[in-house]
Amino acid sequence: MRIPLKQMVDLGRYMRARKKTGEKYFPLVLMLEPLHACNLACIGCGRIVEYKDTIRDQMPLDAALASAEECGAPIVSICGGEPLMYKYIVPLTTGLLQRKRHTMICTNAILLERFVKQVPPNPYLSFNIHIDGMRETHDRVVDRDGVFDTCVRMIRLLKKRGYRVQTNSTIFRETTTEEIESLIKFLGELGVDGMLLTPGYQYQVLTNDIYLSNEEMPQKFQRVRKLAEDYKIINTPIYLDYLVGKRDLLCSPWTTVTRNPRGWKGPCYLITNGHYRTFAELHSATDWEYYRTKQDVRCRNCKLHSGFEGTVALEFGKSLKDSWRMVRHYVS
Ligand code: SF4
Repeated sequence: MRIPLKQMVDLGRYMRARKKTGEKYFPLVLMLEPLHACNLACIGCGRIVEYKDTIRDQMPLDAALASAEECGAPIVSICGGEPLMYKYIVPLTTGLLQRKRHTMICTNAILLERFVKQVPPNPYLSFNIHIDGMRETHDRVVDRDGVFDTCVRMIRLLKKRGYRVQTNSTIFRETTTEEIESLIKFLGELGVDGMLLTPGYQYQVLTNDIYLSNEEMPQKFQRVRKLAEDYKIINTPIYLDYLVGKRDLLCSPWTTVTRNPRGWKGPCYLITNGHYRTFAELHSATDWEYYRTKQDVRCRNCKLHSGFEGTVALEFGKSLKDSWRMVRHYVS
């Protein structure tokens, strides 16, 4: 299984219940950023630029836990910044696990050893290790030697101790298809439970030229799409079709909502119109149909995983052929 069965069942049950009430715009994943400080300064990281004025801020523990209650999403991805630097990371994680939220910690792995001494494996817990290429590439992207080796050591340690581990790799313009293939094979040998590969996306606040253009994307992701037949790549086949230009998708930014020390960020993970005090305020301030149909100029070249995989999840069951492909993909 590329995704834990329990998570898929819980997500399906939750979506059915929300749809039954007639709701159209409900969240599936909460991206909880309790802080934006980090122990690395990766190239292409929009967060440390966008939030440089509030980089020292940390959410109070009760506010972080309350945000999970407020939006109700069954999956909580704790990210940042580096979430393992958050002073309440242990009580936040255990609090979410007690509430039976599928909790994923997105980390650069540097502080993992200390954390796993305090939080044992749990069926609701998984780690998402950031790894953007083989040794030379990854250490260049994170601008520090030795981080790739740390990631590998931590993946081995987590697997040995029985935790669920997946990886998250951003594909940049300079990443060659050969390196993508080497990385996928290497992660497969390490025994990771799932690999997410996403195109590097242009943050509103960044101007560097490291991101894939629409012309470059199909060629890089063609290889990923092929390798997904044999390796535990967790991008859905429908989203991969979209990345290689074989179909179009509308966006569902409300499926992945972001809460950080400044409030609820909207309209999506990538672009910021404002930060809202409550989840309800985010909803009433946002014209979801406008973003769903990608009318905003900032949506023009966007293929952001969280917006479009949300669409795939919401449409599951509408096409027998697509649904069968999805089931086969996830149980293989
Ligand atoms: S298309 Fe991209 S930028 Fe536009 S709302 Fe969706 S995720 Fe955000």
